[in-house]
Amino acid sequence: MSATVTAVVALGSNLDDPQAHVRRAFAEIAELPQTWVTARSPLYRTQPVGYADQPAFVNACARLETRLAPRALLEGLLAIERAHGRVRAIPNGPRTLDLDIVLYGESVIDEPGLAVPHPRAHERAFVLAPLLDVWPQAEIPGKGSAADLLRKIGSEGIVRIVVPAKAGTPMDSRLRGNDGT
Ligand code: ADP
Ligand code: MG
Repeated sequence: MSATVTAVVALGSNLDDPQAHVRRAFAEIAELPQTWVTARSPLYRTQPVGYADQPAFVNACARLETRLAPRALLEGLLAIERAHGRVRAIPNGPRTLDLDIVLYGESVIDEPGLAVPHPRAHERAFVLAPLLDVWPQAEIPGKGSAADLLRKIGSEGIVRIVVPAKAGTPMDSRLRGNDGT
């Protein structure tokens, strides 16, 4: 039996109720064979990077323990993306669901169709912030600690989505608008 590896998957969506896509994807990742979701980050509302003329994104990270090999994990994630109606049109363009392997243990993989750590994770606050939520000590092989990297680039353009603990409490009115509604 192969050993369990700690991996981190970044989730993103900016179409058709992005929060719902991300929440469903957390549950679907947990259904992958030989894979256990051990932490889910809060959701973040983030400004598009690379191709600005599109809706804001919702981003998050999941921390996993998995016995799947990197390729098998990728295939599982791509199947979940397809089930969410993901269509690849414009690079960095709008998408119902994007699932990226950010970290797979301490592995460095550079193969056609699979690069780990994800090649742009270290320069993206919308990946680093939720990564730190699920793994404060995370190290990105070859790049340094996720905490140092986020300090360097700053958290501009990302806001944690606050979900009121209980509807109807006095906090509700103060938080209204913070969830993008
Ligand atoms: P991006 O996530 O960069 O916006 P896509 O989601 O369209 O791009 O992914 C395109 C391809 O990227 C996938 O089919 C997959 O083979 C490849 N890929 C390479 N490395 C990774 C990774 N670490 N996680 C997910 N996909 C990856
Ligand atoms: Mg992707």
